[in-house]
Amino acid sequence: MRRVAVFGATGSIGGSALDVIGRHPERFRASVLSANDQVDALLSLCEQHRPELAIIANPQHYAALKHGLTQRGLATEAAAGPEALEAAARSGPCDTVLAAIVGAAGLPSTLAAAEAGKRLLLANKESIVVAGALLLDAVRRSGAELIPVDSEHSALFQCLPQPAVGHGFDARLRRLVLTASGGPFRGRKREELAQITPEQACAHPNWSMGRKISVDSASLMNKGLEVIEAHWLFGAPAERIEVVVHPQSIVHSLVEYLDGSLLAQLGPPDMRTAIACALAWPERVEAGVAALDLVKMGRLDFEAPDTEAFPCLRLAFEALRAGPAATTCLNAANEEAVSGFLQGRLGFLGIPELIDACLQRFGGERADDLPALLALDARVREHARSGLR
Ligand code: NAD
Ligand code: MG
Repeated sequence: MRRVAVFGATGSIGGSALDVIGRHPERFRASVLSANDQVDALLSLCEQHRPELAIIANPQHYAALKHGLTQRGLATEAAAGPEALEAAARSGPCDTVLAAIVGAAGLPSTLAAAEAGKRLLLANKESIVVAGALLLDAVRRSGAELIPVDSEHSALFQCLPQPAVGHGFDARLRRLVLTASGGPFRGRKREELAQITPEQACAHPNWSMGRKISVDSASLMNKGLEVIEAHWLFGAPAERIEVVVHPQSIVHSLVEYLDGSLLAQLGPPDMRTAIACALAWPERVEAGVAALDLVKMGRLDFEAPDTEAFPCLRLAFEALRAGPAATTCLNAANEEAVSGFLQGRLGFLGIPELIDACLQRFGGERADDLPALLALDARVREHARSGLR
């Protein structure tokens, strides 16, 4: 029986994961659930899944959580605050941690799960972008199993020779090819993007996701973060990672070997496939995903990304080449820019502009350990926010 801590249980990935877990009560149990501040949603999930521990990250809601659990007659223990997440990842009632919190806020609990040698199912890509070297070091030292949940990295993981994660770039490989849907504004020119609203940016053609990653997909920063994620997971240098736009989101990514062979993983755009794969690996379980009708699908298209209209992808490659301080800066500036955009304080084109400005200012710094990375993250955010006021 795998006891799974679902961090970010009330989110899009959290919901898909609980759906898969609920299909296999004999194999998986959601033993810890967490949310940021949606107490009511967390309480209904507790009623449904009966976890041993429920954590609300915002401590202001602790009393409401505790009261709600008692009122429902549940034996679930209540905890609150970021420290409770970290403690549960390290030594709570779980052997597996699904990191599905959004943003760098997920870093401490992700790192704690890696240090504690757990099976770590990684959806929270921001944590590996901010602290990839530290995370992979922790995995190697503790013997933790790091399995990607991001659909592209799950595809690569499934096509690569094992062990795929944390062992450097395999000498038999030529390159990794990440596919991108292109987002809702694919084909538009830069000047056509100035008036984009948050609602338009969050309406993804193929995937239903949280608001932050939806904006990242629209700006192509999501693919930029994924390039950095692929670098850390599979040891691929920047020049061995290529991005192609594939509007149907059926081919989730490809691995090219030296002999010219390309292996791809295909499937309907449903995150339950990648989540089930990571939960059960190396076994396979039913995930509730419909079979792909190849004939009905008919065709698969591929095109080059437009980095003129969507400079975030180029900025991410530049940050990866510049080093860990630059990728931390890229992520922090992007989180602040996306939040500013969602609040109507920054235009869509302002997102790459703000990130570029932060990279110019902070990208050349050095930050090798966690305190230095977190301090840099805080300074970049402060600077980015001051530009939004
Ligand atoms: P979401 O916004 O739907 O859910 C985020 C979850 O994190 C919620 O449960 C929320 O309560 C919690 N949370 C938010 N801020 C928090 C904080 N400061 N502290 C603790 N908890 C907090 O997001 P999502 O779409 O599920 O994405 C989650 C992560 O997975 C992101 O890193 C995203 O990039 C990644 N991811 C998502 C998808 C997808 O299809 N949604 C695909 C690949 C990767
Ligand atoms: Mg992805």
